[in-house]
Amino acid sequence: MPTIPFLDLKRVNQRYQQIIDEAVARVARSGRYLGGEETIAFETDFSAYIGTNYCVSCANGLDALTLIYRSLVALGRLEEGDEVLVPANTFIASILAITECRLKPVLVEPDLLTLQISEDALEKAITPRCKSLMIVHLYGRCAYSSRIEEICKKYQLMLVEDNAQAHGCCFVDERGCRKTGSLSMAAGHSFYPTKTLGALGDAGAVTTNDKELADTIRAIANYGSERRYHNIFQGRNSRMDEIQAAVLRGKLRFLDVENIERQRIADYYYQHLSQHDFSLPTKAPQQSHVYHLFPILLNDGVNREHWRTALAQKGVNTDIHYPIPPHRQPCYIKTFGHQSFPVTERIHRSIVSLPLFPGITLQEMTYIIEQINTSTV
Ligand SMILES: *Cc1c(COP(=O)(O)O)cnc(C)c1O
Repeated sequence: MPTIPFLDLKRVNQRYQQIIDEAVARVARSGRYLGGEETIAFETDFSAYIGTNYCVSCANGLDALTLIYRSLVALGRLEEGDEVLVPANTFIASILAITECRLKPVLVEPDLLTLQISEDALEKAITPRCKSLMIVHLYGRCAYSSRIEEICKKYQLMLVEDNAQAHGCCFVDERGCRKTGSLSMAAGHSFYPTKTLGALGDAGAVTTNDKELADTIRAIANYGSERRYHNIFQGRNSRMDEIQAAVLRGKLRFLDVENIERQRIADYYYQHLSQHDFSLPTKAPQQSHVYHLFPILLNDGVNREHWRTALAQKGVNTDIHYPIPPHRQPCYIKTFGHQSFPVTERIHRSIVSLPLFPGITLQEMTYIIEQINTSTV
């Protein structure tokens, strides 16, 4: 019986062994480990790839999002206590970035068919104190739409993207194909090893076309200084190191090819899974999907633990993204405790992620599908 890991990062990175070895050796020998040529080159390449004027690298994805909101507050564009709309079913980091800046998250229910923020629920959730909307391209799928753009205009909401899971994803309309990360005032990216563009440790970045915002983010990430020993903000230290920059720059050239591979694997699932005890998210032509994850939604009444255990006993490993919604986490009991989000709760109760990673073989895919289609739980 084969054993299929949920994610085999060793296999994912093995293809780039030579590029990675060379990048690490080049930095190790260079004598410059932070803020050098590799970081500058990565920022240039990544902003060109995403299609923005600026890229500011930082230590991780949570920092990227936090730096955006800290800078908006520092620039006086937002005030402490202002409300930020955000999907209720996101990874908790999206919300941590908001609360860390003493802004108030307003949770918005997702659409059960797409798992992305519901535009109807969004419009209903808006209050006069809402000044910003953070969309999350969750699981690698574009959450942006022309309706979201209209809503932001109508209610004067500053749009921010959490693009931690969707590098290379795009929104398609009559203006062409625009990458997620270029659709808003500013976007936070994570290069955590499991993400579609993954480093060998922690790394993150902000992309934006707003020079003032980019400069402020760069200063706040550098102890609050633009010039050495001259501190205009009470900043922090958030840096991408030269090794991560060199590795990411090498891997960036293959991101589109990898995303196509992820899409092929997903298409294979869509074609061959017989959906008797679960459903798959619906697709939409304007919102591309790079499948950071492949979630399915078990039908009500299917016991998730039994379903997953039965598959694991056949060697097919799955995971859950995410088992507990942010508003039910102990740290947010006081913030959201009294509110209920039935769609979000339904998703968190019944979602399961199937294995999907570059390098998974056709043989493994066939085996996974056979096990799922003949599962009798
Ligand atoms: C991974 C992730 C983050 C945080 O990124 P880190 O690099 O782990 O700090 C933020 N938002 C989402 C949606 C993520 O998946």
